Amino acid sequence: SRDYLFKVLVIGNGHVGKTSLVHRYVNDKFNKHYKITVGVDFALKVLPWSDTETVRLQLWDIAGQERFTSMTRIYYKEASGCIIMFDVTDSSSFRSCSSWKEDLDSKVTLAGGSPLPCILLANKCDLSPWEVSHASIEQFSKTNGFIGWMETSVKDNKNINEAISFLVEKMMVN
Ligand code: GDP
Repeated sequence: SRDYLFKVLVIGNGHVGKTSLVHRYVNDKFNKHYKITVGVDFALKVLPWSDTETVRLQLWDIAGQERFTSMTRIYYKEASGCIIMFDVTDSSSFRSCSSWKEDLDSKVTLAGGSPLPCILLANKCDLSPWEVSHASIEQFSKTNGFIGWMETSVKDNKNINEAISFLVEKMMVN
């Protein structure tokens, strides 16, 4: 049997749902009220992957306040993959994703020098109106080197397991 340990970064502006995502995925809960994330939190998820393989995911939830400072370099160290999140009802959180991706790619790569596999999550898809179109998300995801994007709702538990499994598949081939 084989064990994999992956450090996965969860980044994006404040209030897009990062803390909720980690809490949902690891504890299978959604709570409406959270304390504001300060610094970094990480949570461990053990994911039975196949008869012979177990995946351990260390999810690092990076606070919005720390963005683009020298601190992110420390958080990013030895990561295997990344989730970049925005809120579909907040176009500025979508626009920030390009800065998040640039910051990531400039500070951390895989051992061979290629960028970390990174998925883009269009969160709060249960809300309306959306301020960002499918077409612009698709375009952005393609031109910025994401492995793909998914619309998610942490609140309704929509596409959370699917998105993270997709990322795990990509990390396993590296
Ligand atoms: P963070 O600052 O990125 O960690 O964001 P939080 O996880 O603290 O979430 C910010 C707010 O958005 C909280 O009030 C959450 O309950 C709410 N939230 C998170 N995900 C969703 C979602 O998918 N749908 C809705 N409607 N609200 C969400």
